[in-house]
Amino acid sequence: MRIDILTLFPEMFDGPLGMGIVQRARQAGVVEIVATNLRDFATDAYRKVDDAPFGGGPGMVMMCQPLYDAVEHLQGEGGRPGRVILMSPQGRPFTQRVARELAALDRILLVAGRYEGFDERVREGLADDEISLGDFVLSGGEIPAMAVTDAVVRLLPGALGSEASLDEESFAGGLLEYPQYTRPRSFRGMDVPDVLLSGNHAAIQAWRAEQARLRTQQRRPDLWADYNDTTRRE
Ligand code: SAM
Repeated sequence: MRIDILTLFPEMFDGPLGMGIVQRARQAGVVEIVATNLRDFATDAYRKVDDAPFGGGPGMVMMCQPLYDAVEHLQGEGGRPGRVILMSPQGRPFTQRVARELAALDRILLVAGRYEGFDERVREGLADDEISLGDFVLSGGEIPAMAVTDAVVRLLPGALGSEASLDEESFAGGLLEYPQYTRPRSFRGMDVPDVLLSGNHAAIQAWRAEQARLRTQQRRPDLWADYNDTTRRE
């Protein structure tokens, strides 16, 4: 898979996407990640990519021309065009389901906004999709682009040491993950549940399944309702 990120701050990506699972996936050739500076596509001497909004108001708006030129240039690279996705608080919420959908694609281009966001014609004529990290406003789309990249890369075949961990973790089956423990058995008066030390795999599985249900019910009634709807339909 290839992931392009169009941003005013490509250097922000070196740290988070240059370590751990994502870095190992890059080294193994599972994913190619290319961060491109939008300013390279500005046409004036000041490398300007934003301008004042028509109709007045605070802040600046990202202009069409550098964004169109950059995306069209990138789409011509890498052999195959990809889905162009704006990072935007107005987009569809990012979830594990969306991460799985994106991980099935050959290529995606994530566009990180800054200032007051994009000229509306970027939405109309350039973007295929718009994704929000949540109902809050960040100062730029870089952190959402990193979050999307990380969540997508770890789903790619070959990215994780053990693919089984994907099946067990939160959201995989529509539930939050069960509680996990490691050594020591007792820490500051808090003990590991006996069942996990029993060696009885069926009992352990049943306990984990029950804990996942309880946890989801208590913490995320919205997920719990979806889970029940889905299991009723199946
Ligand atoms: N004025 C815009 C609005 O009200 O919708 C917000 C602009 S925000 C300050 C600048 C950029 O940060 C956005 O263009 C977007 O790329 C990114 N951004 C901010 N919050 C985000 C979120 N929750 N999800 C995804 N991207 C976000």
